[in-house]
Amino acid sequence: LIQLIRPMDRLGQLYRSIRQALVDLDQLVELLAEEPEVRDRSGAVPLPQGPGEVRFEAVSFAYDPRHPILERIDFRIPPKRTLAVVGPTGAGKSTIARLLFRFYDPSEGRILIDGRDLRDVTQASLRGAIAVVPQDTVLFNDTIGYNIAFGRPDASQAEIEAAARAAELSGFIARLPDGYGTLVGERGLKLSGGEKQRVAIARAILKRPRLLILDEATSALDSATEQTIRRRLHEIGRGSTTLVIAHRLSTVVDADEILVLDRGRIVERGTHAQLLARHGLYAGLWRRQAAEQERVG
Ligand code: ADP
Repeated sequence: LIQLIRPMDRLGQLYRSIRQALVDLDQLVELLAEEPEVRDRSGAVPLPQGPGEVRFEAVSFAYDPRHPILERIDFRIPPKRTLAVVGPTGAGKSTIARLLFRFYDPSEGRILIDGRDLRDVTQASLRGAIAVVPQDTVLFNDTIGYNIAFGRPDASQAEIEAAARAAELSGFIARLPDGYGTLVGERGLKLSGGEKQRVAIARAILKRPRLLILDEATSALDSATEQTIRRRLHEIGRGSTTLVIAHRLSTVVDADEILVLDRGRIVERGTHAQLLARHGLYAGLWRRQAAEQERVG
């Protein structure tokens, strides 16, 4: 029996870590065949077309009822605008992204996209409208072309190549032994963190999503990669409503609104300039990171 339980346990862990990483691999999650946390309710309808407005209305959430994680979170992201969420580790930032992707339902309050409660729409249509650029992109053991097209299986080779160019990946791919046909992933060519994130950006560009969730990497990318990513996201962001989960502060400067989260509550909100002028938690985090960057060079 122990022999049976161990692999099951490992599967459970794998499932949890995948969900944590916010990877848009619901197919894989289904393969792992664990009871899904949320289901389509009977009568759920596809998310209707809309401009891409996001609202959180008094959203509270707990993974475990004894430990509230988010308390009465309120915000609105107007269509095509960018909201960034910052705050200390464990504040609940990634949880907000997981709720928007509907890995879980709020314990109280509601989340609306274009006026529709997420609980009333099909998960397939919801996830079809959202692209996620996760912290750590999982690649399939397949070609780099397949990996870019994932999420848009109907994409033509020309579209795939245009997305790769836009994500500044085409030079890299041109140098690969088999170009777009080069195998990547565990059994193929290993990509660096920055290259994997560019693959995720190319996917997002190809998907042209109504909503973009960027779960920013915690680990430092080299600064050229980071600049590419920032520039590219800015461009995708022009067409998509964007939620940035910022583990570092460098990408939030241009956000239309920044929420500062601490232990599950919004403690400050405003633009970068407004928050710096408050000399509060945000200004403190900013000063500390600026000092760190100077130390690192
Ligand atoms: P952040 O992104 O701000 O670092 P998270 O949203 O990941 O924070 O986590 C907020 C809190 O929720 C943390 O205390 C974390 O330990 C807890 N948490 C995260 N995921 C789970 C989970 N699947 N089950 C139970 N607790 C969790």
